[in-house]
Amino acid sequence: MLEKATFRTAIAGSLPKPAWLSETQKLWPQWKQDGAELAQAKLDATLIWIKAQEDAGLSTIGDGEQSRQHFVHGFLEQVDGIDFEHKVTMGIRDNRYDAQVPQVVSELKLKGRVHGSEARFLRAHTTRKIKFTMPGPMTIVDTVADRFYGDKVKMAYAFAELLNQEALALQAEGVDIIQFDEPAFNVYMKDAADWGVKALEIAARGLTCTTAVHICYGYGIKANNDWKETLGGEWRQYADVFPALAKSSIKQVSLECFHSHVPLDLIKLLEGKEVMVGVIDVASDTIETPEEIADTIGRALQFVRKDKLIACTNCGLAPMSREVAEKKLAALAQGAALAGVRYA
Ligand code: ZN
Repeated sequence: MLEKATFRTAIAGSLPKPAWLSETQKLWPQWKQDGAELAQAKLDATLIWIKAQEDAGLSTIGDGEQSRQHFVHGFLEQVDGIDFEHKVTMGIRDNRYDAQVPQVVSELKLKGRVHGSEARFLRAHTTRKIKFTMPGPMTIVDTVADRFYGDKVKMAYAFAELLNQEALALQAEGVDIIQFDEPAFNVYMKDAADWGVKALEIAARGLTCTTAVHICYGYGIKANNDWKETLGGEWRQYADVFPALAKSSIKQVSLECFHSHVPLDLIKLLEGKEVMVGVIDVASDTIETPEEIADTIGRALQFVRKDKLIACTNCGLAPMSREVAEKKLAALAQGAALAGVRYA
């Protein structure tokens, strides 16, 4: 039997939350339940998205981050030494926008498992490969106020140790791919190359499952879209960190491609890595056509081997509408299948 030729597909991580679970189209939405009802509602929403990803035809399935309010703070809520009662306003991503962030006030320690129940739930409900995402150490440091460590690098390494504990536990629960999200790598390029990748390696220490890092130009929110307007006609931010990542143990690297000004020959700097190529724009509600997606894959194939390319979204889809997100998932799989035929 001939195996159907297609490219592997995955989402970056987050998906929109249903309106009965939380506010919609917000980066920090308020939950609509609490206690046991909230816990159940989060899993119900996760189940819907597992099914939607399978129906779309994706090869890697995630939990859509339905159980966390925000991709960074969802992790921090399970860490001792962080004061969530007294949040402060802080400019994040080099002051691109203000966020209400909790404060680090004492030594950091995990309260217990962070994503255990979601990971076991995800593993129990799909036989496909599963990916779990966590914020990377450098992005965490950029999304929390420090009143204790007084040293960014020291604090990043402390968070990396906690991420590592949780990552090893996720692996033991059958997670196939553990991804760390590091949008901060595209903002503090020198720091990323100097110590960001080292912190990432601590977070990934001892993992034998596939490891990944997602680096993007952010969610499709206005502050990010305005920032991108200032970056000029050619976005070379990845050029600083890719060489350091190429030397690291991390196996997969994701980058934005479709509707971005990233020169795709930068992929050459990722020699030997698997590359998650962003073929879906998260800043536009227009649904990509399979032809557009196959074209993006074709452009990337000039610089990465076919068996090392995974078609992916540019970033998370959390702030979008459910309807648009579902259509984008279907387009992703259709485009990857078309590219499989075209570039067989
Ligand atoms: Zn992203």
